[in-house]
Amino acid sequence: MIRAYTFLMRPTVGQTQALGEMLRDHCSLYNGALQERRDAYRHVSKTSIKYGMQSAQLKDIRAFDPERQGRWSFSSQQATLRRLDKAFAAFFRRVKADETPGYPRFRGVNWFDTVDFPKDGDGVRWNSTPHDPVTRVRFQGVGHVKVNQHRPVVGKVKTVSVKREGRRWYVVLTAEQGEPEPLAPTGSVVGIDMGIANFLADSNGGFVPNPRHGRQAAAKLEAAQQALSRFPRVRRDKRTANHQKAVRKVAGLHRKVRCQRLDHAHKTALGLIREHDFVAYEDLKIRNMVKAPAPKTDPDQPGAFLPNGAAAKAGLNKSINDAGWGVFLTILTSKAESAGRTVIAVDPRNTSRTCPRPTCGHVAAENRTTQEKFHCVACGHTAHADTVGAVNVLRAGLVRRDARQG
Ligand SMILES: [Zn+2]
Repeated sequence: MIRAYTFLMRPTVGQTQALGEMLRDHCSLYNGALQERRDAYRHVSKTSIKYGMQSAQLKDIRAFDPERQGRWSFSSQQATLRRLDKAFAAFFRRVKADETPGYPRFRGVNWFDTVDFPKDGDGVRWNSTPHDPVTRVRFQGVGHVKVNQHRPVVGKVKTVSVKREGRRWYVVLTAEQGEPEPLAPTGSVVGIDMGIANFLADSNGGFVPNPRHGRQAAAKLEAAQQALSRFPRVRRDKRTANHQKAVRKVAGLHRKVRCQRLDHAHKTALGLIREHDFVAYEDLKIRNMVKAPAPKTDPDQPGAFLPNGAAAKAGLNKSINDAGWGVFLTILTSKAESAGRTVIAVDPRNTSRTCPRPTCGHVAAENRTTQEKFHCVACGHTAHADTVGAVNVLRAGLVRRDARQG
């Protein structure tokens, strides 16, 4: 199993400059190779240049330009040429499929933010100072750069990348891990209902609240985005200092929201996977289809529409996105897979309207009196509506599981 890690780097002033020069030179290598391909393609012979031909020239390019191209890792330069090759492959694939793709474009130096090192130990060394308590990564031409390693790296490091995001520098690792041991069976099953007031409700009557500070961060982000929108749209290198500051603020808040959401999703998924052998959840694709409001036409006024709660629904959708269920479900599924647990999506239709009492099972929209309250009109059973939803999701999930097992 391959796993990726992203860590913030803490380069010195000199290293920051060297990293910038590394990106600049890789960018000019990329653009030079692109120019060559363009020229060859426009020539009457319609020559198409392949990665192998460009890679074979690298040795000479480095020898002619030892101050710049000669400084950097050969393999990382190959990786950059391969990236261009991929852009062309995608371009030709789309041409073949009768689409009209844009020809691969030159990259401005501010838009070229990544350098890949295909193999640890070749032009790059992860954990280059193993006896020092501070983790460092060494790049050819840059030196040993300090890393904020906020969690351990498990397994053997395969590839290393440098990534610039605004003013920050990151190192991205991929590591090969052995297959994890499946968890011991617990004999427990659970259904979950993803809500608005709470992140989710489970079929045992438990609730997981939404990420704390999530709403606050979202409000700050919205304000920052509004502030940013007041600046004119100009090229990245033509922005004023205040404009740049506004851009960085939005990027920083985005990062914060993303991190909080991810962290919350990981913790929630881990809790469920540890406690239960089987988790059933609502299929979000069906759910979104079912719950999207259809416009109602006004019979007195042809062409006009009656209000049908579409605006309220839009707000609801926003909250759904905020809660980040998609992210959560992806994490849940992958964790379940490596722990040997079963996760099943079920059709959410009627899960919020069906009485969960085994002896009743009455289905009626009137059963759900408010967003939170469930009150069966047939048998009088009352419960939290989301708990009812979760119980029904579990029941539907178990039916599907048993049908699969035959
Ligand atoms: Zn009932």
